[in-house]
Amino acid sequence: MAEPALVENYHSATALARHIPESLEIWDETLRDGEQMPGVHFSPEEKLRIAEKLSEVGVGVLNAGIPVVSEEEAEAVHRVAHAGLKAKVLAAARTVPADVDAVIRSGVSHIAIFVAASHVHLRYKLRMTQDEVRAASVKTVRQAKEAGLHVAYVTEDTVRAPFDFVERLYRDVQEAGADRLVVADTVGIMTPLTFRWFLEEFVRRVRPKDLSVHCHNDFGLATANTITAVECGARAPQVCVNGLGERAGNASLEEVVLGLEALYGVRTGIRTALLHELSREVEELSGVPVAANKALVGYNAFSHEAGIHTHGILAHTLTYEPLQPEVVGRRRQMILGKHTGKAAVVEKLKERGIVAPDPLLLELLQRIKRETESRSKEDLRRFLHLYRALFEHPGLSDEEFWSMVEAVGLRPVNA
Ligand code: MN
Repeated sequence: MAEPALVENYHSATALARHIPESLEIWDETLRDGEQMPGVHFSPEEKLRIAEKLSEVGVGVLNAGIPVVSEEEAEAVHRVAHAGLKAKVLAAARTVPADVDAVIRSGVSHIAIFVAASHVHLRYKLRMTQDEVRAASVKTVRQAKEAGLHVAYVTEDTVRAPFDFVERLYRDVQEAGADRLVVADTVGIMTPLTFRWFLEEFVRRVRPKDLSVHCHNDFGLATANTITAVECGARAPQVCVNGLGERAGNASLEEVVLGLEALYGVRTGIRTALLHELSREVEELSGVPVAANKALVGYNAFSHEAGIHTHGILAHTLTYEPLQPEVVGRRRQMILGKHTGKAAVVEKLKERGIVAPDPLLLELLQRIKRETESRSKEDLRRFLHLYRALFEHPGLSDEEFWSMVEAVGLRPVNA
């Protein structure tokens, strides 16, 4: 069967996006930022499985984790680094020499060195001056370069930092040898327009050799902002499978990839037909269910029920689908329910070679509607209540926490 067309694109975005880099390198953060999602934890075996899948799917570089976090984490990074993957393996470090040493020991080829840049982070979290941040950054970038690593330099909250500081800091680390500069919208406050302004200014003032971005989804704009960044010349957009990540998550791998491939005609190196399988695997191992209406990988993304829509789809799929489900390894589903119309039933009957006269067709349609309208929602409610119970309180319960406090022998001061 011929490869299905990606999209019937009448006003192609390609013509408007002149700065898209020639060769993109998708940078996956599922095993680092994705794992930092509340309640998510991957064992070394699970990290390895996901890394193998990510590599097979075609990500350019994958962040395996932060070795200094724990012994188990260091082991996981070590195993991923030595798995012989096609994808480049990266590990992350703060601007602390011991962190960088731990990354060097893990055997990865790539490092991301991170620190924060904004006033609020420097003053309240790091308690460091701008000069201290700059000195620690330059020092650790040099340390990693001397060990022969490919160095990406990241600041958290770049977009809320004073631009003069950002300019000096990034120029200095690039001069110290950083191979790739990463701009982060850590709290997800950029819009495509403001981010475009920021990145154009950044490119003009810093002249990065290689640019990457890290976008969060607090206002649902992570994918849009990430694609905007690629339009501005970012070569290695950071993403997470299923949009996992801190709080509302990161830009989702599948959305960014298909946005670029289908709407811009850009090649990302990703084998898109494997994306659904990848999504399911990460859903299973993270325990975070994909929303039914999630773009591309949600259950409803290629399902049709309403009469007008199914009629259109049966006439030609381009009427109500911007892209063929097979592109992301899925199949179209026609749902029989309250909103079903004649066309869907006629089509379904063909499966058994049945041609129904109009009165019987109408009768059948009535029955379908009555049956689905009168169905109990009990199962769905039970599922929702379990889901809420699990997700409203991830991690330890209060009871578990206080009994641990007692077990280590802690008591209130005045007791
Ligand atoms: Mn993040």
